[in-house]
Amino acid sequence: MLKVEDIQVYYGAIHALKGISLEVPQGQIVTLIGANGAGKTSTLNTICGLIKPKSGKVIFEGKDITAVATQEIVKRGLTQVPEGRRIFANMPIYENLELGAFLNKNKKEVAESMEKVYARFPRLLERKNQLAGSLSGGEQQMLAMGRALMSKPRLLLLDEPSMGLSPILVKEIFSIIKELNEQGTTILLVEQNAKMALSIAHKGYVVETGRIVLAGDAKELLESPEVKKAYLGG
Ligand code: ATP
Repeated sequence: MLKVEDIQVYYGAIHALKGISLEVPQGQIVTLIGANGAGKTSTLNTICGLIKPKSGKVIFEGKDITAVATQEIVKRGLTQVPEGRRIFANMPIYENLELGAFLNKNKKEVAESMEKVYARFPRLLERKNQLAGSLSGGEQQMLAMGRALMSKPRLLLLDEPSMGLSPILVKEIFSIIKELNEQGTTILLVEQNAKMALSIAHKGYVVETGRIVLAGDAKELLESPEVKKAYLGG
């Protein structure tokens, strides 16, 4: 479904991605793990068109989207939930959700998507008129995911959804991710919580300083001595 081919990204003189290649097959959860600054967010931002790589290609459903604008990429069915959620704290929850569908001019469809999001995240429905800034961290992550789902993505990119959440909420968010996948959404998940990410993923990639250093079946990576040592606390 998604193919990233040898992307090179620079920020001025900083060579952030030194030839990243990866594949996300339809129907799977694929995770990208690695330490702070390894290049995970840069990879996601390149895929969704927020950063243009110096070289390399991003192919989505057989089409080259490397030079396509982010809005158009969202229209084609690929949406990102950014790191840190980026919700609009001073706007009510329902308006945050509406923004996720701003490219869709069909009001009926937008209302249907909203119903689905509320069915999945009942807490958002209960609080739909409250300001988003009043939500807890876990609820804000749910809102960010709900907002992304408003664009009805076939491929969802998640950037560190567990960041800053308590262990119970991390579990809840991961079980939602698994459910979304079981219901048909393909997922590329960036995480520092390697154990949780590998436990729900089909495949995984390990990124270190702008390169993929390990790739394989998620269960194999969980058992791999290198991954255990570097990311699972020994
Ligand atoms: P984190 O988990 O901390 O977000 P990451 O794996 O997502 O880390 P990136 O954010 O992709 O890593 O960063 C990769 C490298 O690029 C880092 O060395 C970072 O300092 C650098 N970098 C990222 N964004 C910029 C920017 N806008 N300008 C300059 N350097 C940047």
